Amino acid sequence: MGRLLVFILMVLNGLTVNLEAEEKVWLKGNIHTHTFWSDGNEFPEMIASWYKQKGYDFLALSDHNILSKGEKWMPIAQLQSRGGSDVVDKYRKAFGDQWVVTRGSDEKLEVRLRTLEEFRKGLEKDGSFLMIQSEEISDRSEGVPVHMNATNIQEVIAPVGGATVREAMANNLRAVAEQARRTGKPIILHLNHPNFGYAVTAEDLAAVVQERYVEIYNGHPGVNVLGDSEHASVESIWDIANTIRLSQLDAPPLFGVGTDDSHHYHGRGTSRPGRSWIMVRGDKLDADAITTSISQGDFYSSSGVTLSEVSFDSKKKKLALTIEPKEGVTYSTRFIGTRKTADLSSKFKKSAAGKVVTRIYSEDVGATLATVEGLNPVYQLQGDELYVRAVVTSTQPHVDPTLPEQTEQAWTQPVGWSISTRNRR
Ligand SMILES: [Zn+2]
Ligand SMILES: [Zn+2]
Repeated sequence: MGRLLVFILMVLNGLTVNLEAEEKVWLKGNIHTHTFWSDGNEFPEMIASWYKQKGYDFLALSDHNILSKGEKWMPIAQLQSRGGSDVVDKYRKAFGDQWVVTRGSDEKLEVRLRTLEEFRKGLEKDGSFLMIQSEEISDRSEGVPVHMNATNIQEVIAPVGGATVREAMANNLRAVAEQARRTGKPIILHLNHPNFGYAVTAEDLAAVVQERYVEIYNGHPGVNVLGDSEHASVESIWDIANTIRLSQLDAPPLFGVGTDDSHHYHGRGTSRPGRSWIMVRGDKLDADAITTSISQGDFYSSSGVTLSEVSFDSKKKKLALTIEPKEGVTYSTRFIGTRKTADLSSKFKKSAAGKVVTRIYSEDVGATLATVEGLNPVYQLQGDELYVRAVVTSTQPHVDPTLPEQTEQAWTQPVGWSISTRNRR
């Protein structure tokens, strides 16, 4: 009805409108990517072109502690040792000699990296692709990496540090919040790969309640997505942290982000692009709008499964998905959550090396509440859930797996949760 009304009003005003542009669609993007600006092995505009050609709508290049800004020259030897002997030739071929800025010659040759401001124009000019500025704030505390991606950041932020992992997280969150306030821009700061170096426990993640986003799948094969005999998987960490927040801290749960964390772009190397992304509901390719949708949890994460619909009816307490089918593929959806009546006790745990790791909880935490086959899974909440989320697993093998027997999946955000008004942000 609303749409019809819009249409009639537009016709009366004699305007030509594209109604499609008014509707919300799913925008596909990767918000964790590395380039020659830090430790990636390809020129940024080559990488962005790859994503654009693959049908992505937006991309954030998130190099370590640097923006694609200012003057950065790289010696040919360094470019080739990382990207292969033909890396500059491929770059020239794709963008033309005019575009490639060099100085010196032969083994003294250097190439200037183009800035985001320079290369985004060409990529964005047909209106089908958007670059979002980002930085991987790459901090350390207690001897482990604390990496956080600042999507839609406006100015570089040096890692703030902190005496503990939790303090480092909180300090970087504060710095980003301060920049967001000062610039009036929405900025998302998500915690990357909690199990990289087994740096961040579920209890850490729960405690720093200002953090609202965590990577639940990261395509880098070195980030221990599944954990090991001593450490919880990342998905389990997500459920434990959300359970602690909602049952003990009266704090909102974390949203789950899927990313590539790609470094290697020449068909070799281990951390390649195209493994995981987010689908954000939006009506325009605009960095502020996309960032705002993410902040509202209006997105899901995928490693191959596409959802045409994710809806939560808060009155009827029903979570419903519509899965876009692929021929010959079947889908199984697990609805995962923790009931308020669950056994929430836990046991302290240390690794064999004496390091504090995520505590041990009962199987009630992040339990599978229902498993539904088919393209239209629905879950009716019983009223005793702290939250519910869905993970769809298909029978289609993943396009470039990092996990054993990995098939394509999609993860939706926790719904059905509530906190008291005073803690809402
Ligand atoms: Zn990282
Ligand atoms: Zn990274």
